[in-house]
Amino acid sequence: MSELECIKGFKFISIGETSSDCTTPYRIEFDRNFTLGEFIEEVLKVKGWGYFEINGKKAEYKNGEIISQNPFLKSYHKNVVYCTSRGGWGCMDYKITIDNAISEYELMLEDRIAKIQAINEQYDLLNNSYIAFSGGLDSCVLSKLIDLALPGNKIPRIYANTGIEYQKMVKFVKRERERDNRIIIINQTRNIKKTLDEYGYPFKSKEHSLRVEQFNKHHMSNYIVKYITGIDKGKPTIFKCPDILKYQFEEAGKYNYSNKCCYKLKKELMHNYQKKIKRKITITGMRAEEGGNRAHIGCVITKGNDIEKFHPLIVVTEEWEHEFIKREKVELCELYYPPYNFKRTGCKGCPFALTLQEQLITMKKLLPNEYKQCLYLWKPVYDEYIRIGFRLKYYPHEKGVQMTIDDFLDEKE
Ligand code: SF4
Repeated sequence: MSELECIKGFKFISIGETSSDCTTPYRIEFDRNFTLGEFIEEVLKVKGWGYFEINGKKAEYKNGEIISQNPFLKSYHKNVVYCTSRGGWGCMDYKITIDNAISEYELMLEDRIAKIQAINEQYDLLNNSYIAFSGGLDSCVLSKLIDLALPGNKIPRIYANTGIEYQKMVKFVKRERERDNRIIIINQTRNIKKTLDEYGYPFKSKEHSLRVEQFNKHHMSNYIVKYITGIDKGKPTIFKCPDILKYQFEEAGKYNYSNKCCYKLKKELMHNYQKKIKRKITITGMRAEEGGNRAHIGCVITKGNDIEKFHPLIVVTEEWEHEFIKREKVELCELYYPPYNFKRTGCKGCPFALTLQEQLITMKKLLPNEYKQCLYLWKPVYDEYIRIGFRLKYYPHEKGVQMTIDDFLDEKE
């Protein structure tokens, strides 16, 4: 039984007589936990032949590979809880019991795959949609999820290079494009500083910037009053201006803020390209958990009978995404790993970022040139943030923030 002895981690316990065809029944004990995928991999290393059987479904293997259709692929991550086998002389059939308890992770995965397939049935995503691909964690999860739901799809992944993307992110997307030709990079040609000066800077949030812009144009309106007071017809509104920012509604035209930055640097670029490729539906990696406007939108945004936007990740959590990344071996940009440890990788230094202070400290230490670019672009907003003590307490270079030896070693690793 030499072929049995060389399966690492398995112990074959005989549970009956050897029959006239020289096969013996066994129960297999394991010296560690095996997922179904690991189990099959170990058996295939032996180069024998036989069958795997789970819940009445069978797959034949021979000489290190499964040679029939494999019905078990989706269960590879499940744990093997019990296994018997029968065989001898290079042939062994396995009857495997796997842990079929469906975890919350799997329920969500199945739900999201079913949703994507249903929307595809209804609106033909394969021919009418594109993925707004930022190269960030959500986008990478989304791209893989769409592939699981719609195998072999050719849906374009469009990356808008705004000019304020992290250089490491641009490199990552270019590298990804080499192995996935569905990734298309479109480049922004506007002068960013001039655009911000002309159309207004983002300040605090899209909602706040929009209200300041409206105030500059029309002075007070009902919308602005509701935003400032946080009350609409006696009820609390979703968005309320923090007391510390109410001074921005005292003198129209004084603060050059607006919510146009996203449109001028990103969305306009996408829309033009979208028209060119004639794909009306935008699939995004938005998640409600991120808060702001996102917390209040649905999975599907329609206009008349048409669907405009589809957000398959809207209901998933950060924790679920990390499990997905681990199980599906999703590759991410290096900015998500030490020494950077970024949680988000949108436009660098964007004044909408809640963790702006930490972001600038990291940039000052590890990405000094990009830090300088941020100071140049966003100075009017950063100065105001620091002046009123909102979101930014200080400029890292003024506090002497430097790269430490540990940062340096982490970066080298
Ligand atoms: S995310 Fe921020 S920096 Fe990027 S386009 Fe929108 S407002 Fe501008």
